[in-house]
Amino acid sequence: MPTFECPICRETVKVAELVDAPFRPFCSERCKLIDLGRWLDGTYKITESTKPEDRSQAERGDDESER
Ligand SMILES: [Zn+2]
Repeated sequence: MPTFECPICRETVKVAELVDAPFRPFCSERCKLIDLGRWLDGTYKITESTKPEDRSQAERGDDESER
């Protein structure tokens, strides 16, 4: 019997078939919405890699390979 752990409430969910768990990896729609809410709140900070160093390197663009 497949089991999975809900990342929100840490509850181990047992299902007869994985298709019986439409909210996987969440145990229920409630936990799914909680997770979505966290994203919208910015609880999960997305670390953007917008370093100025990366940009200047791309602007150079002088790769004279294969000519
Ligand atoms: Zn849950």
